[in-house]
Amino acid sequence: MGAIFAFDLDQTIIDSTDIFTRLSGEYSRHTNNNRIFDIIGEHINRNLLDKVIRPAVALRGKGVDAILLLTNNSSREYVALVCEYLHREIGVMGKFPIVQDEPMGNSEFPEVDNVFDYVMVRQHKSRDQVDDPPKQLKDIKYMLDALKIPYKDIPDIARRTFFFDDRVQHDIRTEFNQYGINHYIQIMGPNTYRDGVNMGFIKGLPDLSDYRPVTRFFNAIILKNPSSSSSIPPSFTASAISPKPKTHRTVENIVRTFPEKYRTMEPITSGIFKSRGGRRRTKKSRKLRRTRRR
Ligand SMILES: [Mg+2]
Repeated sequence: MGAIFAFDLDQTIIDSTDIFTRLSGEYSRHTNNNRIFDIIGEHINRNLLDKVIRPAVALRGKGVDAILLLTNNSSREYVALVCEYLHREIGVMGKFPIVQDEPMGNSEFPEVDNVFDYVMVRQHKSRDQVDDPPKQLKDIKYMLDALKIPYKDIPDIARRTFFFDDRVQHDIRTEFNQYGINHYIQIMGPNTYRDGVNMGFIKGLPDLSDYRPVTRFFNAIILKNPSSSSSIPPSFTASAISPKPKTHRTVENIVRTFPEKYRTMEPITSGIFKSRGGRRRTKKSRKLRRTRRR
């Protein structure tokens, strides 16, 4: 059983702080003009798109089970436009059209070309009907049920889910903590805290989110099955396999050291990750390694 990627929308995938003004009433997906998509494109978090969304889409069915959008935005038209933009960029359809008409499906959401498997907006029937409903594992569970993706139990869903949000705290973070899982990926830029609130991704500023848990997960899949990387941009594959290129790291070396990496993975999924209990390197042990290498 593979991983599940669940994304927030605003300030995570896209900076929406001024997008409504920029779109100024033009945003009906029926308009379908390129100007709308140009404006959306200017606001997209390209770092997240390239480092996480593209590889996740490429690995769907090869270690990634579902790619979900879980947003507290209530404008289906706007959310659909961003979905459509991402589809234009990536060009791959999720299971979205398949579940569209199912009883648990996306029937209230505009029928657009969509990279996501499921899109859950604020007023989705399964959620608390309040202004700012919590994001919980039960939302992920609902979407998995709709998509008929099997899981063992809630802890299993927690272990397999990577959750991306600019908000510091959603219930899902507490739920992850309960199971000792560190897959709550906080989206943040430089100095993005205003009045104690993290502003998340802001266009024009670098995205400084720590994607290492995800990169390690992609690494593990690629190393286990190198052919799975064929659809991933080569630039990503190279940096993923060797984040800090060192001249002495040959392919043989990488393969030989893989079991060690394997043991130090985050506890996640599908037998790829076993436990987090790998040997942590201390200053002393690093020194020892260096000495041994000489
Ligand atoms: Mg947000």
